[in-house]
Amino acid sequence: MKLRTILLFGSPGAGKGTQGKILGKIPNYLHVSSGDLFRNLRIQNPIGQLFLDYASHGNLVPDEPTINLWRDDIENRSRNGQFNPETDTLLLDGIPRNVNQAKLLEDIIHVVGILNLYCTDLDRMVERLQARALRQNRLDDANLETIKTRLKVYEDETKPVLEHYGETLVHVIDSTQSPVHVLRDSLEVLAKLEDQ
Ligand code: ADP
Repeated sequence: MKLRTILLFGSPGAGKGTQGKILGKIPNYLHVSSGDLFRNLRIQNPIGQLFLDYASHGNLVPDEPTINLWRDDIENRSRNGQFNPETDTLLLDGIPRNVNQAKLLEDIIHVVGILNLYCTDLDRMVERLQARALRQNRLDDANLETIKTRLKVYEDETKPVLEHYGETLVHVIDSTQSPVHVLRDSLEVLAKLEDQ
């Protein structure tokens, strides 16, 4: 049985994490952010080390350790009762991050919809990332060069994931709006997907 999944999609700074944390409070929805999984690793963990090397330059961590980390996490959550594969919906934030990851996850997740948080205002996104760098002490948001690399990686490697899944699954949400309005639009899509 594949896991019912909704992808939170959008460039760095679009607000996936903000929305994911709120939406994940809804009963039977679980928010999983791959970035958080990496950041929660201990510094001694070899994957944690790999993450520091790649993320601090704005690059993606290689696919195999990324998928393994994610798989171990969801298995743990299923075992300890945080996630029920039969009744719950996964809200995936930050994964799959390229087409290869989407293929590696194909046998495990069933994607029923994609919330594409779309931000036309590039300056606004860069501002959000720089504000976050200060608030959360994030290395990958700290300098403009790294931010630019991350935005380019998104364009080149992550955006093609949308085509991979196909247009009919994609729901575009204007993420230049305030968090409350983005939330309202996101909930509307989630409700529609439940009715399908
Ligand atoms: P943002 O949404 O701002 O890009 P994330 O927390 O999702 O931030 O990701 C931060 C960093 O973690 C990425 O730049 C990348 O180095 C690493 N990362 C997160 N998810 C993945 C993934 N699925 N595959 C590879 N690297 C990832």
